[in-house]
Amino acid sequence: MALVVQKYGGTSVGSIERIEAVAEKITGFRDNGDDIVVVVSAMSGETNRLTALALEMMQQPTPREMDVLLSTGEQVTIALLCMALEKRGYGARSFTGGQVRILTDESHTKARIREIDSTRIRTQLEQGDVVVVAGFQGVDESGNITTLGRGGSDTTAVALAAALQADECQIYTDVKGVYTTDPRVVEDAKLLDSITFEEMLELASLGAKVLQIRAVEFAGKYKVPLRVLSSFEAGSGTLISLEEDTDMEDPAIAGIAFERDEAKLTVSGVPDVPGIAYKVIGPVSDAGIEVDVIVQNAAADGSNDITFTVKRAESDRTKAILDEIAGTLDAREIVLDKKVCKVSLVGVGMRSHAGIASKMFKALADENINIEIITTSEIKISVVIEEKYLELAVRALHSAFDLGDPDYEKDQNPA
Ligand code: ADP
Ligand code: ASP
Ligand code: MG
Repeated sequence: MALVVQKYGGTSVGSIERIEAVAEKITGFRDNGDDIVVVVSAMSGETNRLTALALEMMQQPTPREMDVLLSTGEQVTIALLCMALEKRGYGARSFTGGQVRILTDESHTKARIREIDSTRIRTQLEQGDVVVVAGFQGVDESGNITTLGRGGSDTTAVALAAALQADECQIYTDVKGVYTTDPRVVEDAKLLDSITFEEMLELASLGAKVLQIRAVEFAGKYKVPLRVLSSFEAGSGTLISLEEDTDMEDPAIAGIAFERDEAKLTVSGVPDVPGIAYKVIGPVSDAGIEVDVIVQNAAADGSNDITFTVKRAESDRTKAILDEIAGTLDAREIVLDKKVCKVSLVGVGMRSHAGIASKMFKALADENINIEIITTSEIKISVVIEEKYLELAVRALHSAFDLGDPDYEKDQNPA
């Protein structure tokens, strides 16, 4: 008998039929004798629908009210799933984040979990019930509802698994597991049996939304066995392994991640003097805007260009901040380009393989794709390119590094 935390994402609970299918799946685990804690997301599209309503009401809704609004999506699915289980004769009890007492900090819309009181869940499990918890939400010290950022139900699940010391945390989604890249962009992307925690962390932080980055961080910190699987099809999915596989030589590249909604700002012709980078970036981060890639380039004439990227949604605000301080920066020009994206190669094997960067640049050159920014770290290389080339770049890199599933054609046309 095991204690398993299972999370079902938006598409997996996207309709009454889908919720019924999830309930069926859960009854199978119960019949096996396992204790099950379920975390659910809102029905697919619901969080976006609620966000659009808020934006219809006001341009910059207050984060506190945003959380009150967005948390309702998950409250719908916990109740419906419990009904589906009760209908089948299984005991089930739903809890909102606040009812469990998933205590977070006060940062509305991007709160971090501080502590989870698992007493109520344990009592309910002892009574033989399936416990169904609303993902993505918590409560702060003063009782205000908070949310954990988009995709946050993954984090709720892993945090609960850590608090309950569950045997496994299973993230059920609409693909079979973690692939070499988004299977919606590259058809023959290969399903990975396992991926190292370090690589998953990097892929998640570079845009692969299959797992929220904080969920991966939690799994690493509290050593939670984590698996991504399909709620639609059978299969063992992908294990996020906490130990590096030392028996085999690592492939150079584990996967490719990308981020579409990036924007690039260039502040050109500023004086090349100490403190200039701080003068440009300081006011942007003081405004709570997350700056991603930064490059600085000094020219022979003593001037300096500073280029950086931010989320596209924050780019107008960033540009306005820079325009306001333009006088003090002594800049020649401040340019905003909203049509860029970032594509990244990730792999722990990069440490021991040379020539990865040049192979990447050649693959992009062969497709006539101009690289605007390059950044590297020990296990990743990222490039910023024009957004219209995103799919082309990802496919070209996927095949240049031989990441495709050799069985793909066979699966499509079984003999
Ligand atoms: P859920 O609603 O279940 O949380 P998400 O939409 O948040 O699901 O995440 C699953 C999606 O992540 C997949 O449908 C897929 O398009 C996308 N994705 C991006 N990169 C990858 C990857 N490397 N492997 C698997 N899925 C990926
Ligand atoms: N419903 C939230 C979202 O769409 C949280 C989640 O699904 O993980 O981002
Ligand atoms: Mg998700």
